[in-house]
Amino acid sequence: MTDGKLFNTVAFIGIGLIGSSLARVMRRDGLAERIVVCARRDETLQKAQDLGLADHVTKDPAEAADCADIVLICTPIGTNGAIAQAIAPVLKPGQIVTDVGSVKQAVIDAVSPHMPEGVHFVPGHPLAGTENSGPENGFDTLFEGRWVVLTPPDGTDDGAVAKVKTMWECAGSNVDVLDAAHHDWVLAITSHLPTLIAFNIVGTVADLETSTKQEVIKYSATGFRDFTRIAAQDPVMWRDVYLHNREAVLEMLQRFSEDLSRLQRSIRWGEGEELEDLFKRSREIRRNIIDAGQA
Ligand code: NAP
Repeated sequence: MTDGKLFNTVAFIGIGLIGSSLARVMRRDGLAERIVVCARRDETLQKAQDLGLADHVTKDPAEAADCADIVLICTPIGTNGAIAQAIAPVLKPGQIVTDVGSVKQAVIDAVSPHMPEGVHFVPGHPLAGTENSGPENGFDTLFEGRWVVLTPPDGTDDGAVAKVKTMWECAGSNVDVLDAAHHDWVLAITSHLPTLIAFNIVGTVADLETSTKQEVIKYSATGFRDFTRIAAQDPVMWRDVYLHNREAVLEMLQRFSEDLSRLQRSIRWGEGEELEDLFKRSREIRRNIIDAGQA
């Protein structure tokens, strides 16, 4: 293949925020000769066509996967097993299947059993996103400067991993390879728990009596406002994250609850030094994130 082209035919199963952003990169840089898009709703398929992201659309995952060099599963995690089962009969040796799910071990457990001999499954997760869903909200710079974690199980073909890595590098990402269980553990604290806290705090406000709620909304300073942005993310996607990374999230939630109790105690007993000490350490972490270019 020439001219920076990585693939002849690419199949996107799911063309929401993540799928459409990657499809935009492929269009922009001519990484694929042909893009086939699969989704459930006519409206979504129409949008993908109107945005110029699809050469062919279908509601049948198997039709999309047939003859694609690479199949990108970009749907909520809970659908991945059924999609793998649906495409399995048409997959041929040498094809690559990858995904973008925010949890990795559960996706591997759901997808791998359906992969025929010689088909390369390379699980992946771009650590990038916004609170908006759907193909109309994607943009081609979403992955620039962000990490993508690949979690290929032992024995995955090196060439297939290299190809998926190159694809993400073309999108401007830095790529790391991690063990799937370790990925899920790390993401439980860096992403899944913070988002759960945001859902919880916004839920607390939703339950306040009407007059107080109106004032909270009127005077919401950056603290609450930032939580509402995080808590405005797609409900189905996040439902699936918690259902599929249950143990790691519960473990982090336990630690969080213990630390929160300690904070509660410090406030109750007027232990200002302990509070200040914790807040100093928090500031330090923020500075480290800025220094790492991930702010
Ligand atoms: P999204 O914007 O809601 O899009 C989901 C897409 O999947 C839609 O095109 C939807 O089509 C399609 N879909 C859903 N169920 C399907 C099925 N059974 N068969 C075929 N297509 C189906 O979602 P997203 O934000 O792109 O997230 C997709 C994946 O990326 C999730 O696994 C998530 O964990 C991961 N991820 C998300 C973020 C983020 O911040 N959003 C970040 C990193 C990773 P219809 O419209 O026709 O239903």
